Amino acid sequence: MFIDYAKITLKAGSGGSGCVSFRREKFVAKGGPDGGDGGSGGSIRFRADRNLHTLIDFKYKKLYKAKRGEHGKGANKTGKSAEDLVIRVPVGTIIKDIDRHVQLADLVENGDEAVVARGGRGGRGNARFATPTKRAPRDWEVGEHGEECNIELELKLIADIGLVGFPNAGKSTLLSRISAARPKIAPYPFTTLEPHLGIVNYKEGISFVVADIPGLIEGAHQGKGLGHRFLRHIERTRVLAFLIDCSDKNPDETLKILRRELNMFSQVFKSRKYVVVLTKADICQETILSCPDDYIAISAVTGQNIDSLLDKFVTILR
Ligand code: GDP
Ligand code: MG
Repeated sequence: MFIDYAKITLKAGSGGSGCVSFRREKFVAKGGPDGGDGGSGGSIRFRADRNLHTLIDFKYKKLYKAKRGEHGKGANKTGKSAEDLVIRVPVGTIIKDIDRHVQLADLVENGDEAVVARGGRGGRGNARFATPTKRAPRDWEVGEHGEECNIELELKLIADIGLVGFPNAGKSTLLSRISAARPKIAPYPFTTLEPHLGIVNYKEGISFVVADIPGLIEGAHQGKGLGHRFLRHIERTRVLAFLIDCSDKNPDETLKILRRELNMFSQVFKSRKYVVVLTKADICQETILSCPDDYIAISAVTGQNIDSLLDKFVTILR
């Protein structure tokens, strides 16, 4: 199940309290204060992990707590600080504070981290309160409370591969062949109105995200067709796959038109890596024979060359 939104509550750990204690040793009649400080409570951190693709875990577990710090001890021993609680989320997760209406983090790269709820500091023990005039203080502090907050997690998947092409090029069919995503497929333009994301489980431990983007038409950069709304989504994909129907008489020209359209929308596309894919190879074998070396001809219906295409994707993504 693909879940891209969740609300959860965080409770960071409180600090341990300071200790009241006095030194007791043989031959030392009146030992001074030696109560140690409390340890700090654990914070709650979020870390982006590229192996995760959905927020489904947060649908069932709603409350996350970090441990509290240990209390201080005699003999000036500071209580142990608690470890941070690290919560892993998919790359592309945005974290917002619900009550304060502020964005706290946007974790866009694998390994990105953000501390979202801070653990409390430990309280001071009585050793800290000694002064020349007050040699036997009984003062101490409780540990600070850990931060608590209600947050919202929103996932804007950053796709690895974006499928780009004119309507009917076969984008949705390809996505449903290589992933569990089920975008609508039909022999008429603009069946796909929203970007669809599919996760391709390539080989053990390797997976990547493919986005099926609504069909591009000439003038899209000026807002024609579905225009800007979806060109924005392609901007966040790492590699582009241009899909061209193999019955197209002039694929090179079509490729030029597609690339020009993207480049006019945003400069970022100029340097973006891409693959050219000729689709529906099962219905036009002759095009396959004349297919240029750097293009790849596939059939999403028969499965022809699909494995090679995935190999190619993975090679470029590395
Ligand atoms: P999109 O608009 O680019 O998403 O294109 P679709 O995936 O919806 O496909 C458009 C039409 O082409 C549909 O009728 C598909 O059944 C057909 N089609 C897609 N891929 C293939 C293929 O590999 N072989 C054949 N014969 N037809 C295909
Ligand atoms: Mg489609």
